[in-house]
Amino acid sequence: MLDQRLDGRIAVVTGGSRGIGRGISERLAAQGAVVAIAYRERVDAAREVEAGIRERGGVAWCGACDVADADSVERFFARMKTEVGGPDILVNNAGIARDTHLMLMERARWDEVIAVNLNGAYNCVRATMRHMLLKRWGRVINVTSPSAQMPLPGQANYAASKAGLIGFTRAMSRELAGKGVLVNAVSPGLIETDMLASMSTSARDTCMKAVPVGRPGTTQEVAALVAFLASDAASYITGQVIAVDGGLL
Ligand code: NAD
Repeated sequence: MLDQRLDGRIAVVTGGSRGIGRGISERLAAQGAVVAIAYRERVDAAREVEAGIRERGGVAWCGACDVADADSVERFFARMKTEVGGPDILVNNAGIARDTHLMLMERARWDEVIAVNLNGAYNCVRATMRHMLLKRWGRVINVTSPSAQMPLPGQANYAASKAGLIGFTRAMSRELAGKGVLVNAVSPGLIETDMLASMSTSARDTCMKAVPVGRPGTTQEVAALVAFLASDAASYITGQVIAVDGGLL
């Protein structure tokens, strides 16, 4: 039987200390994976997730990692290797939004979003690929967004980064499928996190009206899909973008 358990696997979740990333860290651990939580700055939040997983009998470790900074990424993965081992499962979840009308979008705002959402995924893939290829088993799951196809006004930087992530997912899946590494993207709709809380009420109301299920999603609903894709049960799925959005798109 193709198993959804993740025992014996080592996973890393970027931005894994809060929001969707926290839900993913907790779910992967609940299914048996050893989980490395990569956090940017909120060490307390990361330690809380780490402690919660350990209390429930799981194995977790957290370390600082700014995905936009290639040196920080290299340092994180070197430490991770010593602490828990090399990653079999990479979840590129870290992301930021800096919405601004294009007329006011200075270069720094454009660069900041591309650096985290797109270059961050590249940095983490480059740092982990060798291990997965040597093992001839790996999973990369990129967290994209419906904004890649249906952006709100002000999201030129965010939409470009998330659309880039979809292209990156498809290109990578083709190169790596024959080598045992499967690459997919998940596209969460409106999920209750800090990122959603930072949206204007009018933008949020407009988006909610377009959700056929009629409510925002939960981080657990996204995490369940990520855990499935990380497992052997998803061994014939690669290069896909799978929405978990209540029917939004
Ligand atoms: P969030 O703001 O709660 O969490 C984002 C996480 O990314 C945080 O842990 C943050 O520390 C981390 N992060 C940001 N910059 C980083 C960096 N440079 N290095 C390392 N970590 C960094 O947001 P969220 O809603 O949980 O978002 C998670 C992912 O889901 C993002 O990629 C986001 O674009 C995507 N997403 C969210 C929604 C939603 O409705 N919440 C919808 C679609 C896509």
